[in-house]
Amino acid sequence: MQLFIWFIYVLASLAVASYFRMKLFNGTVAVFCLFVVGSILGIIGEFSWLLFLIAAIPLNIESIRKQYLTTPILNSFRKIMPEMSSTEKDAIDAGTVWWDGELFSGNPNWQTLHNIPQARLTADEQAFLDGPVEEVCKMCDDWEVTHKKADLSPEIWQFLRDHKFFAMIIKKEYGGLAFSAYAQSRVLQKLSSISAVLSTTVGVPNSLGPGELLQHYGTKAQQDHYLPRLATGEEIPCFALTGPEAGSDAGSLPDTGIVCKGQWQGEEVIGLSLTFNKRYITLAPVATVVGLAFKMFDPDGLLGDTKDLGITCALLPRDTAGMEIGNRHFPLNVPFHNGPIRGKDIFVPLDYIIGGAEMAGQGWRMLVECLSVGRVITLPSSSAGGAKSIALATGAYARIRRQFKLPVGKMEGIEEKLGSIGGNAYLMEAVTSFSTKGVDIGEKPSVIGAICKYHLTEKMRQTVAESMDIHGGKGVMLGPNNYLGRAYQGAPIAITVEGANILTRNMMIYGQGAMRCHPYVLDELLAANNQDDDEALEQFDRAVFGHIGFAFSNFFRSIWFSLSGAHLASAPFKDDTARYYRTMQRYSTNLAFLSDVSMAMLGGELKRRERLSARLGDVLSYLYLASCVLKRFDDEGRQATDLPLVHWAMQDSLYKLEVALEELLNNFPSKILGKALKLIIMPFGKSYKRPSDKLEHKIAGILQTPCEARDRLGKGQFLSREPGCLLGDLEQTLENVLAAEPIYNTVCKAAGQYLPFTELNLVAEKGLELGVISEEQAELLRETEKGRLRTINVDDFDPAELIQSVEKPKPKRKPRTVKSA
Ligand SMILES: Cc1cc2nc3c(=O)[nH]c(=O)nc-3n(C[C@H](O)[C@H](O)[C@H](O)COP(=O)(O)OP(=O)(O)OC[C@H]3O[C@@H](n4cnc5c(N)ncnc54)[C@H](O)[C@@H]3O)c2cc1C
Repeated sequence: MQLFIWFIYVLASLAVASYFRMKLFNGTVAVFCLFVVGSILGIIGEFSWLLFLIAAIPLNIESIRKQYLTTPILNSFRKIMPEMSSTEKDAIDAGTVWWDGELFSGNPNWQTLHNIPQARLTADEQAFLDGPVEEVCKMCDDWEVTHKKADLSPEIWQFLRDHKFFAMIIKKEYGGLAFSAYAQSRVLQKLSSISAVLSTTVGVPNSLGPGELLQHYGTKAQQDHYLPRLATGEEIPCFALTGPEAGSDAGSLPDTGIVCKGQWQGEEVIGLSLTFNKRYITLAPVATVVGLAFKMFDPDGLLGDTKDLGITCALLPRDTAGMEIGNRHFPLNVPFHNGPIRGKDIFVPLDYIIGGAEMAGQGWRMLVECLSVGRVITLPSSSAGGAKSIALATGAYARIRRQFKLPVGKMEGIEEKLGSIGGNAYLMEAVTSFSTKGVDIGEKPSVIGAICKYHLTEKMRQTVAESMDIHGGKGVMLGPNNYLGRAYQGAPIAITVEGANILTRNMMIYGQGAMRCHPYVLDELLAANNQDDDEALEQFDRAVFGHIGFAFSNFFRSIWFSLSGAHLASAPFKDDTARYYRTMQRYSTNLAFLSDVSMAMLGGELKRRERLSARLGDVLSYLYLASCVLKRFDDEGRQATDLPLVHWAMQDSLYKLEVALEELLNNFPSKILGKALKLIIMPFGKSYKRPSDKLEHKIAGILQTPCEARDRLGKGQFLSREPGCLLGDLEQTLENVLAAEPIYNTVCKAAGQYLPFTELNLVAEKGLELGVISEEQAELLRETEKGRLRTINVDDFDPAELIQSVEKPKPKRKPRTVKSA
C-alpha cells in the first residue's frame, strides 16, 4: 500500500508538471516542491530523493546533458532519420504554418482563432461581384457552352478580357485588379454555380501559372513584357507540368532542356534545346504563352560546373518554332480548353527561363511555393460555390416537387440527404472564407491548402451526388434546363487535378503536416542535417528535450481528457458550442500524442504506411474543418437560426474524426500498442454519433423555406430572377408555391374536395368560380403552375439534333505545328 501511494504521488507530480507544459527547469522546481510536500507527508523518502537527483542533475546541467544524453541521441537519430528527397524537402520548406500549427500543438489557443479578422470585401471587389460577375453569369448559357459550342461564346471571352477577369492576381501597377484571395474566392464561387467551363477558364490564369510565377520570380523585363498583356487578356496563359509518364509523380518528369549553342534571331547564342511531351494542360489549345516545366542539363558545362541543374520553368510564346499545340482533350463533357503540348529539339534563348538563367533549377521550389496558395483558393472555392447553389436549388426543388401527395422534401429519406447537403454547404463556405483570409494576411498555408483541396472537392462530389438522387430523372436528363448534370459529370475533374485526392489524403496532408506543424520534428531534422556539429548539438538539444516534454505532456493530458471526457477543458463560450471546443482540445492533444508514438515506432516508414498517415491526416483535417465552422459562427454574430447547420457540421466532423482515430488504433502496426493506446485515448469508445434525424429534419426545413439562415447559406451566389436564370427561377417558384398553398387550401375547402396540387391554373378558375379568391390570388396560382412545370419538366430533343452532335464532329484538325519563329 505504501508503495502504491508513493507510486501515485510520484506519477501525479510528474503529471502536474507535464500537464501544464512547464519548461524543464520550472518543471524540476515544481516536482521538487511537490517532493518537499511529500516528504512532510511522509510519502517521499530518501530513495525517491536519490531518483530525483539522478534525473534532475544531468537534465538541468547543460554540459552534462549535452555530452551524455543529447550527443548519443543525436547520433542514433542521424542513423534512423527518414531520407528526404529534394522535392520533398522543397515541399516542406514551401509555405507557412498557421492555425494548423495550433491544432497540432495539442493545446490550441481559441482566442488566437477568434482574433483573426473576418474576411471582408473592399468596395471595388464588391462592385466587381455585383457588376461584371453578375453580368457574365447572365450571359452564360451552360448548355450552349457544353453541348453546342464546346466553348464559351466569343462575347463572353471578350467580356472576360475587357473586365480583367484574368487579372485578379495581377498587381495594379501592371494593370491588374490585385484582388484579395477572399475576393477571388467569391468570384469563383459565383461563376461555378453557373458553369464549370466559365469558372475554370477564369480560375486557371489566376492560379498557379505564368502570371503568378512571373510576379514572384520573373525578371523585370519579363514582368514588364508579359504582365500588362496578361492583365488585359491579350495573352492567355497555361502551365504545362504533367505528361504521360509524370502525373502524380510530377517531379519525375522526363522532359528536358539541354544547354547548347544555337541560332537565335541571326546570332549564335547559348540557349536550351527543349524536348517535351505534355498532356492535360488547361487552356493550352487557346494559350498564347506556355509555362513549361522541364529538367535542365548542362552537359558541356556552358554555364558552369553543374551538369544536372534540376527542374526549371520557362515561358514559351505560342509561335515558338516547332511547338505542337492546339488539339483538345475532352474532360467529361465539361469542355473547358485542355490539351496536349509537344516539342522536340526546340531551341530557345536562356532568357525564356522564368527569372532568367539564375533561376535555372529553381522550378520545383517555385511551383510548390505558389501551389500552397493556389490550392487554398481555386478548387475549394469552385467546390464551395457549387455546393452553396446546389443546397438552395435542391431545397427549392424538394419543396416544389410532389409525390405521394407530399413535397418530396417532407419525406424522411430525402431529409437525410438535405441535412448533409445543407451542413456541408455551411462548412464549405466557412472553410473557404477562413482559409483565404489566411492567404490575405500573408500566410502560404501549404498543409491547409491540401486539406481544403481534398475535403472540399470530396464534399462537392458527395453533395452533387446526393442532390442528383433527390432530383431523380430531373437530374439525369441533360438539356438546357438541367442545372446539375454537368456538375455531376465533372466532379472527378476537381478530384484529379492539383494533386489527385488519394495521393493528397494519403501522402500530402499528414506527410507535410507532421513535419511542418509539429513544434519540434522539423527542428530535429534540420539539426540532424546541419553539418556544423556544435550548432547541430545546440539545435538538437533544444528540440529534442522540448519534444520529450511535449510528448510527456500529451500523454498525461490524453489520459486526463479521456477520464474527464474533456468536460473540464476550457472553452471561450458557454453556449451550445462549448462542448465542441472542449472535445477539439482533447483530440488535438491525442493527435500530438499519437503522432509522436507513430513516428517513434515507424520513423521514416510512416510515410510509406499511407493508411496510417491518411488517418492521422484525417484527424488534423477534421479539427481544421471544425474550427472553421466555429469561427464562421462567431464571425457572423452567433446567429441562433444557423445552429442546426453548425451542429450538423460539427457533429459530422467530430464523428468522422473519431472514426479515423478508431480505425487508426484498430490497424496500428503493433496490436498490443494499438489496444493500449485505445485504452488511453478512447477508453469508453466514440463519444460522437452521426448527426441525428431531428437535426437533419431541421436543416431540411431551412433549405425548403426562405429564411435568414437559408439566405446566409447561399450568400453571394447568382440568383437573378431574370428570365432564363435557372436557379433564380427556382427561388421564385419556391416562394410562389409557399404563397400559393394557403390559397389552394381555401379553394379545396370551399369546393369540399381534395384537389391535386397540379394544374393550379384550373384551381384558380375554380376558386374564382366559387368566389373564394381574388383575381390577384388566381394570378399567383397561374404563375405558380408555370414555374412548377418549368421546375419538374425536362428537355427532349429531335433525334437528329443529338445524332448530329455525336456523329458529325468537325473534320479532325491536325495539331498545329508552328514552323518558324
Ligand atoms: C482536367 C484536367 C486538367 C489538368 N490541368 C493541368 C494543367 O493545366 N497543367 C498540368 O501540368 N497538369 C494538369 N493536369 C494534370 C493533373 O494535375 C494530373 O492529372 C494529376 O496530377 C494526376 O496525374 P494522373 O492523372 O497521371 O494520375 P496518376 O498519377 O496516374 O495517379 C493515378 C492514381 O494513383 C494515385 N496515386 C499516385 N501516387 C500515389 C501515392 N504515392 N499514394 C497514393 N496514391 C497515389 C492518384 O491519387 C490517382 O488516384 C490536369 C488534369 C486534368 C484531368
